[in-house]
Parts: sequence; C-alpha cells; structure tokens
Amino acid sequence: MSGLYLHIPFCSKRCNYCNFYFSVNKKLIPDYISALKKEINLTSEKYHSIEFDSVYFGGGTPSLLSESELSSILDTLYSNFKISPYSEISIESNPEDLDESKIKSYINKGINRLSLGIQSLNDNELIFLSRKHNRIQSLEVINLVKKYFNNYSLDIIYSLPGQTFENIKDTLDIFIQTEVPHISAYTLTFEENTLLHKNLKDKLISKNSTDIEADLFLKLSSYLNKTGYSHYEVSSFSKSGFESKHNSKYWTYTDYIGFGPSAHSFYKNKRWNNYSSLGKYIRLINENKSPIEKSISLNQEESKFEFLTLSLRHKGINFDVYEKLFNEDFKIIYDDVIKILKSNELAEVKSGFIKLTDKGYLLADEICSRYF
Ligand code: SF4
Repeated sequence: MSGLYLHIPFCSKRCNYCNFYFSVNKKLIPDYISALKKEINLTSEKYHSIEFDSVYFGGGTPSLLSESELSSILDTLYSNFKISPYSEISIESNPEDLDESKIKSYINKGINRLSLGIQSLNDNELIFLSRKHNRIQSLEVINLVKKYFNNYSLDIIYSLPGQTFENIKDTLDIFIQTEVPHISAYTLTFEENTLLHKNLKDKLISKNSTDIEADLFLKLSSYLNKTGYSHYEVSSFSKSGFESKHNSKYWTYTDYIGFGPSAHSFYKNKRWNNYSSLGKYIRLINENKSPIEKSISLNQEESKFEFLTLSLRHKGINFDVYEKLFNEDFKIIYDDVIKILKSNELAEVKSGFIKLTDKGYLLADEICSRYF
C-alpha cells in the first residue's frame, strides 16, 4: 500500500542547523491550508485505484497547526483517498507546542504515531542547537505522550562539538527508561545556508573529526542494540513491531504522494517535487496551475541504483525482490562486491538478504557510490 505526505512549512523560528524548507510567517497558515486542500482535491482523482496505509504530517512544524486546521486537512484526505482503517497516521511535533489537551485532540482525530523533536535532554546542548524547549519541558511532554500514545518516536541529534558518548548516553538513558518504542538518531550536520555553517566558516565553533563522528555512531548503535532496539535504517532504531511504516516506504521503493511546497512524490517509477516556495506554491494553486517543479521518470539503470542504495540504507537488499524487479541474479552480478563487503565486515548475507553492519551503515554513501 502507498503513503501520503503533507508538508507543513511553518516554524516559530529557524534552528541554527536546519536547512529544511519552511517560513516563520505564520499569518500565511490559513491561505496555505486552503491551497493544500485544493492541491489534494485537484490531484486525488489520479490515485482512486490505490489504497493508502500511512499518512505523515512533516515539516517544518506540524504541531503549530490548530486542532481545526489539522481536522480540516484530515477530512480532505479522507474524502479524497481510500485510506485503510489500519493506517499509521503520524505527526511530527515540537515539545513546546504540546500540552495534554493537544495530545488528546491528536488521539481523537485518529493520529496514532507521534514523532517528538527532543534532540537532547541537556539544556546547554539545546541552547547550542538554538532549540526553543528545555529539559524539564521535554520530560513533561514525553510523559504525556507516553500516557496517550503506544507508538511514538523520540529524536536525538548527536556529535555536537566536544560531546562525549557519556553526554549522549545521558539523553539516551532517559529515552530508554521511558520505553520509547522508536528512536531516530541524527549526526549533527553543518549544512550550507545555516547559522552553524557560517559559525564554522568564521571559526567560532569547530566540528568533530570524522573519526570522532564514526566512534560516536558505532557506540550509539551498539548501545541501542544492546538495550533492545533494532537498527533497521542508518538513523532509525526500533523495538519489534514499531518501525515507521511511512518512512519505510521511502526506503523500500514503495509509492508515496506528497503535498505542499518542497514535498516529494514517487509513483509508478516516477519522481517529482513541488516548488520550495510558499508564495509560489499558493499562487500557482490559486491559478489552478501545477505546483510541480521537476518530474523525472526513472530508467532501468536509475531504478536499479535507487533500489540498491535505498535498500542498503534500510534492511538490506532482498535477492528475490531484486531478481523480480530487474530480471537478474544479484548474487551472480555482484559476487565480487559481496565478497569485499563481507571480508571487511561491512555487510552480512543472511536469509536471502545482504544487509550492512553498523560499520557498513557508517560508510553507506561511500559503498553505494563506489560499488553501485
Ligand atoms: S529543525 Fe524543525 S523546528 Fe527547527 S527550524 Fe528546522 S524544521 Fe523548524
């Protein structure tokens, strides 16, 4: 089954490490929601024959939406698409936006998975990351989320300059004590056009070396594995049965349709993305024009590359699926690669799959570009 993605491109302020597309002009929310619903109404007909089993509100900050705004989007989705009653309906949220009544309202609307942008439970680290929330707020919100949600995820950003594994463990241990079923762990990156990148260039801060980053990644992965979390994608860890159904679609070459500025879609071997401009998006939709900026149909080689790289970042390449899709035997074509990856402890072959080890995940991008 396929997935639906809704991009909510608003934030209260810009975090210093973030290069996602969003606006801080919240006055545009009503116009945006009208345009988003119109985009859904105008395009849904193409997907009448398919069923969806995941809906994901990402951003930006979807938890900035009011109850009625969120309800109106969900109502539009339900009246335009065939959505399975067993769907995973997720929303990304920031701790400072949530209280008990908002969390209850999510449950009442059928949202059954919440992804919480905690990032750290150390106040100095949160200040470094320019986040609006603090440790106490986070702990209160985690307890509330746990009270109402069986399925939720906590995010951590690690490898801050000078951070040790003991610092990271302080945050992880509290995550683990709450028995959170899913953790997303991201290495801090210094993306262009962010304040952190500028500070790095101006030598106001320094970046951890690649060796330190690798050491922290391996320690974090091993620690979470030992405490009951399966490492099922480069940055994702879950208890059994709590993998993200929606995000897994990105990694398993499954169709998903995205709405809103900068949203990406993949359907019938075609990828496209909307313009990353809120003003342009709203204007185009209001003029009954398409908000799509770029669209490409993947040829056989491109499909193969995507399948291999996405599978390797996830739970590995399934030999049978590969053969069905590309009509060739992976084990024969890539015999040399399998041997190199295995002998360097970068991958293991088991139960009809080749899957990267933690050390392999660390080098996933390099492995993909070198061998595929
Ligand atoms: S990290 Fe999240 S909250 Fe911060 S600016 Fe980016 S999208 Fe907004």
